[in-house]
Amino acid sequence: LKSLGDLPVLPLPESFALTAAYNDDPFHEKVNLGQGVYRDNNCQPWVLPSVREAEETLYNRQVDHEYLPIAGDSKFLTNARELLFGPQIASSKNITSLQTVAGTGANHLAAIFCAQKLCPKNVFISDPTWDNHHLIWREAAPNVMQLLYPYYDPSTRGLNFEGMLAKLESSAEENDVVILHACAHNPTGIDPTREQWKKIAEVVGRKKLFVVFDCAYQGFASGDADADAWAIREFYSMLFTESSSPSSTPAGMFVCQSLSKNFGLYGERIGALHLITPTSTSPEGAKAHLVQAVRAEISCPSLFGARIVHAVLDDAELRSKWQEDVQIMALRIKSVRALLKSELERIGAQGDWCHIEKQIGMFSFTGLSSAQVQELREKHHIYMLSNGRMSLSGLNESNVAYVARAIRDVL
Ligand code: PMP
Repeated sequence: LKSLGDLPVLPLPESFALTAAYNDDPFHEKVNLGQGVYRDNNCQPWVLPSVREAEETLYNRQVDHEYLPIAGDSKFLTNARELLFGPQIASSKNITSLQTVAGTGANHLAAIFCAQKLCPKNVFISDPTWDNHHLIWREAAPNVMQLLYPYYDPSTRGLNFEGMLAKLESSAEENDVVILHACAHNPTGIDPTREQWKKIAEVVGRKKLFVVFDCAYQGFASGDADADAWAIREFYSMLFTESSSPSSTPAGMFVCQSLSKNFGLYGERIGALHLITPTSTSPEGAKAHLVQAVRAEISCPSLFGARIVHAVLDDAELRSKWQEDVQIMALRIKSVRALLKSELERIGAQGDWCHIEKQIGMFSFTGLSSAQVQELREKHHIYMLSNGRMSLSGLNESNVAYVARAIRDVL
């Protein structure tokens, strides 16, 4: 490189570019279905009442602003681990937890650690996936080859389960990494069934693959945080307990936990990375290397989000209020799914729209083409990702009819 001026200009990631374009659009009926952030029924940001109450408590306690340990706030980590694994598994000695810069930081730390210590040949990523998986692994693990495994089947608008398993069976080798979305798959909104998860775990164990679970929507999918963590707990029970057979126990498994969506703490950047190791091996060395990676990157994590999550989850009353808040979000998303589907059917929009109601989580993978998405934006000021992913939180009772008419128009 002779001059920094030679560096090419890169495009902004699509969801951020969309929000910027939406903000600049003066049209008053514009609709933002791009970014995956929860909005209330007036399409406004929503601070969870349980989180607001925790904030007030913290303020009244006149907290300090000292450094946290490198691995993070241990009280927060205990709560976060319990939320993810349930109290019984969470107390196991073979789970090591570190606080991270939200879910993204957890994915990044997992990728760095895998690239440097596990040295897999390949990382298997669902087709399609959250676009940042590709970027994170390209930046943090440039020597690891990214391979796609089939996930979405456009002909059924469902999971291509046979294709997914066949790819792992035929191409994955011991210690290769497989990224799995724990619930509410982004962008498709389609998850494996419990029977299918068990079959995936069986292949993962037999081939000793290293799973990186990405859990960004716990509570959002069903409204029940325990139900949404089912797959993670099942993998733990099948692969990493005392009774798991050593011949089908992988070297480890990561879970990347984001608390951005389920606590509405997007900008506070709070999350955790959990490493699960076989019961026969000591996790101390692995933990030390993770701690060193954190030290090099951020020295130690930040306080506020950790304090909020701890204040909410550690207090029985606030915790049950939070559970209600999560349900409010999940139910609103479910209700706009039903609204959009019935409105599209009512106005005779061509095609079958059942998938909108069947998919779960923040998004619908609508099946609209990139040309149709572009027309929605240019003609109707409706913003969504070019792969047809719609963030349902931007819909409400007042704009759903407008959006449905626009979709009918571009079909
Ligand atoms: N993983 C997935 C699948 C996501 O959708 C997101 C958020 N869009 C994240 C991780 C990261 O979330 P955050 O860094 O905001 O916690």
